[in-house]
Amino acid sequence: MGMMEVATAMVLAVGVTAAAVLVVRHRMRNSGKWGKAMGIVREFKDKCGTPIAKLRQVADAMTVEMHAGLASEGGSKLKMLISHVDNLPTGNETGIFYALDLGGTNFRVLRVKLGGVENIKKEFQEVSIPSNLMTGTCEDLFDFVAGELAKFVATEGEDMQIPAGTQRELGFTFSFPVKQSSIAGGTLVKWTKGFDVKDVVGQDVAEELTKAMERVGLGMRVSALVNDTVGTLAEGRYSDPNVIAALILGTGSNAAYVERANAIPKWQGLPPKSGEMVINMEWGNFRSSHLPLTDYDEILDSETLNAGEQRYEKMISGMYLGEIVRLVLLKMAEEAEFFGDTVPSKLEKPFILSTPDMSAMHHDSTPDLKVVATKLKDILEISNTSLKMRKVIVELCEIVATRGARLAAAGILAILKKTGRDTVKKGQENQKSVIAIDGGLFEHYTKFRNTMLDTINELLGKEVSRNIIIKPSNDGSGIGAALLAASYSQYHEYI
Ligand code: ADP
Ligand code: MG
Repeated sequence: MGMMEVATAMVLAVGVTAAAVLVVRHRMRNSGKWGKAMGIVREFKDKCGTPIAKLRQVADAMTVEMHAGLASEGGSKLKMLISHVDNLPTGNETGIFYALDLGGTNFRVLRVKLGGVENIKKEFQEVSIPSNLMTGTCEDLFDFVAGELAKFVATEGEDMQIPAGTQRELGFTFSFPVKQSSIAGGTLVKWTKGFDVKDVVGQDVAEELTKAMERVGLGMRVSALVNDTVGTLAEGRYSDPNVIAALILGTGSNAAYVERANAIPKWQGLPPKSGEMVINMEWGNFRSSHLPLTDYDEILDSETLNAGEQRYEKMISGMYLGEIVRLVLLKMAEEAEFFGDTVPSKLEKPFILSTPDMSAMHHDSTPDLKVVATKLKDILEISNTSLKMRKVIVELCEIVATRGARLAAAGILAILKKTGRDTVKKGQENQKSVIAIDGGLFEHYTKFRNTMLDTINELLGKEVSRNIIIKPSNDGSGIGAALLAASYSQYHEYI
């Protein structure tokens, strides 16, 4: 080997070493990014923690707020609205009634023929609400609703005719906070769940609907104006006298329960005859320093039309869970190049990842997480993800769903505490408490539902759990409103 050759070999050797250093550096940088991404996940998971002790604190805080909300108007973030429902269905109601269920993405019109618990005939139609009506004018929204109702009434069959000389009666489920003035009237306190229709807050919503029905030439009396939680409770009670509360876990979340009239200091009227009153908690607006909030919850809140409000709802309900997952993924993309050196533009779009899509990814049981890959591609236009990355995404879904489900279980504990049903009482060892639950999130998000049910058992212990029954209620809110229209019918012979 001559001098020249040695020099070349040396240069080559140096070149090889430099390349090796570059590969190692590249790997280190990548693993540094991966480590950073995992750090973001780990920190998020820690902040979302819901150990049992924390859930008990949340439940206790909610019980305190329930007391405060019942004591005085505006005494708590929990409005604890008096529903004026002191007369729940018994199962003996008869007659033909209409219902209208408005309060989320769809609204439904129903016609029911009541003839005893085993004998309900139900006809219904579901219509999606054009999104422009959710933030449009009062007249446009109510005219649309009344118009759809009129079309439905026009399909009334021979066997669904009301007696001659009587008026059709309607139960109106309106799933927003309403301050009731009577069973059949009340004013909207505020909009939630992405609605912001002008000139309705402070107005009587039953009156607005009645005016719209007149405008479309439909003669019908609003006999009951109810929240969806109250409707669900009524529907549950119709067939089971042990139903004491109802929950909605759908687009939003809320709860109603049966309270003793003399435990409602702010109730100015005469004590109701039965000594009971259904309270619409409006629990979505619950807030407490014990809630495991993260930076992502703050960003989500700032993106909504009702920033600062409904903070509990924004941690547990269907409108928001997918969005929380998106926000964490966005941070991982921005700060740890999780999806490569550019941030996928679709990932920057608020609310692009829906909770049903999150749920589909979370339940992916294919060995290579095909569903996750497909969702990422179809919704976020992200392809070429590794299995390792997809597993992380499933873990994020798990963190968000688990926190939501466990916090919802804590809410149930609060209701049981407030009503003295969180322990087994001497002489009442077999007293059952049934809680009806409705809403698309609870119905379809299996892992959310199972975590919630497990957590209720964990919170209550074996002995008490035996007496607490969760009853899935399928579209109870609409039928419940029709049942309440019957309970509060102007024609007394019906009840
Ligand atoms: P609303 O609450 O609007 O009256 P629903 O009770 O039908 O209506 O609930 C609809 C909500 O349920 C959707 O907005 C969505 O968040 C949630 N949801 C529906 N299907 C699923 C699903 N497969 N997985 C998870 N969440 C779902
Ligand atoms: Mg609903």
